[in-house]
Amino acid sequence: MDRFNLVRESFMKKARPVDTPEGRPSEYFGELTFDRNKMQKYLDAKTFYALLECIEGGKPLDRKTADGVAKGMKEWALEHHVTHVTHWFQPLTEGTAEKHDSLIDYDGQGGVIETFDGKALAQQEPDASSFPSGGLRATFEARGYTAWDPTSPVFIQDDTLCIPTVFISYTGEALDYKTPLKKALKAVTDAALPICRLFDPSVGKVFSYLGWEQEYFLVDEGLFAARTDLMITGRTLFGHNSSKDQQLDDHYFGAIPSRVAAFMRDLEIAGHKLGIPIKTRHNEVAPNQFELAPIYGETNLANDQNQLLMNLMHTLARKHGFVVLLHEKPFEGVNGSGKHNNWSLGTDTGTPLLAPGKDALGNLQFITFFVNVLAAVQKHNALLKASIASATNAHRLGANEAPPAIVSAFLGRTMTQVLRKLLEVPSDTPIEIAGKKGSRMGLVEIPEIFIDNTDRNRTSPFAFTGNRFEFRAVGSSANCAGAMTTLNAAVAEQLLDFKAAVDQELATGKSLQVAVMDTLKPIIASVIDTICFDGNGYTDEWKAEAARRGLDTEACVPEMFKAFLTPSSLEMFARTGVYSEKELEARNEVKWETYAKKVQIEARVMVRMAINHIIPAAIAYKASLLKEVSLYDEVYDDTDGCATELAILDDITRYVEEVRQRARQVEDARVEADAIEDAYERARAFADIANMLFALRKPIDALEEVVDDKLWPLPKYRELLFIS
Ligand code: ADP
Ligand code: MG
Repeated sequence: MDRFNLVRESFMKKARPVDTPEGRPSEYFGELTFDRNKMQKYLDAKTFYALLECIEGGKPLDRKTADGVAKGMKEWALEHHVTHVTHWFQPLTEGTAEKHDSLIDYDGQGGVIETFDGKALAQQEPDASSFPSGGLRATFEARGYTAWDPTSPVFIQDDTLCIPTVFISYTGEALDYKTPLKKALKAVTDAALPICRLFDPSVGKVFSYLGWEQEYFLVDEGLFAARTDLMITGRTLFGHNSSKDQQLDDHYFGAIPSRVAAFMRDLEIAGHKLGIPIKTRHNEVAPNQFELAPIYGETNLANDQNQLLMNLMHTLARKHGFVVLLHEKPFEGVNGSGKHNNWSLGTDTGTPLLAPGKDALGNLQFITFFVNVLAAVQKHNALLKASIASATNAHRLGANEAPPAIVSAFLGRTMTQVLRKLLEVPSDTPIEIAGKKGSRMGLVEIPEIFIDNTDRNRTSPFAFTGNRFEFRAVGSSANCAGAMTTLNAAVAEQLLDFKAAVDQELATGKSLQVAVMDTLKPIIASVIDTICFDGNGYTDEWKAEAARRGLDTEACVPEMFKAFLTPSSLEMFARTGVYSEKELEARNEVKWETYAKKVQIEARVMVRMAINHIIPAAIAYKASLLKEVSLYDEVYDDTDGCATELAILDDITRYVEEVRQRARQVEDARVEADAIEDAYERARAFADIANMLFALRKPIDALEEVVDDKLWPLPKYRELLFIS
């Protein structure tokens, strides 16, 4: 089908009907998860309480309880016509993995019965030797096993009971995202608890919270299928910009197109049934770009839900004739997609730790956590950047037309003033709530509600937004666990150091207020002039300024990963019990390999498209122009009337030659890079190739502007971005 018909057909598509369930959202919310209500209904009392102790008290699951739980789950699953079961895990690839087993077994009488016991629930040994492990599973120990994470509820998808699990090697090393995340969450909540108890001895537990905002693009599936680059690499490797894209800001928060709205409705209903508290939906800045966000929740669960949701997005988009693009930069020249990770800590007594308190003591606690988070981000800024770095996110951070790859923290005017004030006043000055009825005017005041949230800075990778920090540099396709493991672990380490220092101050007989402030002051003085930056992060001046401040400004992704292996990172991860050195080395190996492979695939696709799609189209146009010129010459015996044709012919010849030469260079460089043994060196070589690909797209985009529109073989940006 030629491009014009394809475009016409895509444009004519109508919204498909939505699968609307009976009842209200509150009635079907969590319908497909084995949540607290189902536990109560399907488990006997003893099993129920034993399971609660595993979930809430972190007790290991014993076989008897597991059998009891499996029995109840099976009954519930069979009522939902479930026929299969799978352990659902998050290997170091993108997305999740599952291997389905049917529930049937021989009954010994010539027939079959459905079986599901505690062993099948608790543990599985998928032959998973093909997952990336960075060499952690040499063939003699090729086994990896999955074990149920009872803090994340079991759920049903289609005909399958899905059990969220960790994935570890036979020798106990983590092979997935969930295992280290859980360790980091334990580290941070354990480290925060004794500090909270200084302020309120009744606190029993601390939680880490995550609220992710997922950005994505939708592209018509017909147009998508005609773009080999989108299909294979998830982004357009070339494409001239559309005359109109986002410059009028008319897409952001605009009316949602009906086909897209139908997709969103289906997605929300499916998400709600799976217990994902999806709350917000809206158009994003770029055309055909959208966002959704749930109500925040406990970090491990929220991350599982994000993984699950990304799967749902892919399946449900197809039902509506779309393909969802989670790539960080599918289109050059318009905004890319991120996944803002809104992160905070809170107590089981309902106190948020990154929001102003109810009184001076509460405010002191807030400042304590606030400043310690900044200190952790400062100390590990290079590592945090490495935790969000990938071949795909590189196009959003540090690459052409992206902000410089530097992690800094945005505080906003109010909190910057509060911190500066704290440095000036004596340590025993109470931190008052401003303007609250009955409260006295203080020397240091925090507004109860942050009214000046309007001075939100969209360019900051790590921004304070009133009651949480927003880690915005995370990529839209990423598993949040990568960033969340590093952030929570880094904060845990800082809290351990802080607690030790405060204890020393307290031992000298100082009051809590004075001990805390005396400990915090040097930290405040350091962070305020180093990691805190409220200016425009997109400028070159900031790059120079950041370097002067000693922040990491490395822009090459394979190089960034090295931050995982510095002495300070190794020590931090060891102290918090999150990663061993062996695990970190293995993971870096995987990161370098993945980076190289992604660029390698892009290079292959781009060269082939240049040779098989672009050059033939340009030459076909060239041939028609030449024919025109030669006809003219035949009739008039000169070419004086062919100035336009001749000028275009010149352009085409020049661009085509440039495409051919650059494609050849890419191909040669790729073959050379492929032959490099060492994973890091190979990744470095592919980082250079990534830049060569950017150079190769230039003459191709120039040709798109010159060649007859009818002859152009690929859907253009104006079509991909505006049909929905
Ligand atoms: P915005 O686009 O203004 O940042 P959104 O509503 O799109 O706001 O997303 C904000 C996200 O932050 C939501 O997922 C929300 O639940 C979450 N969030 C709000 N408060 C907290 C908090 N204290 N800790 C973690 N996440 C939070
Ligand atoms: Mg946000």
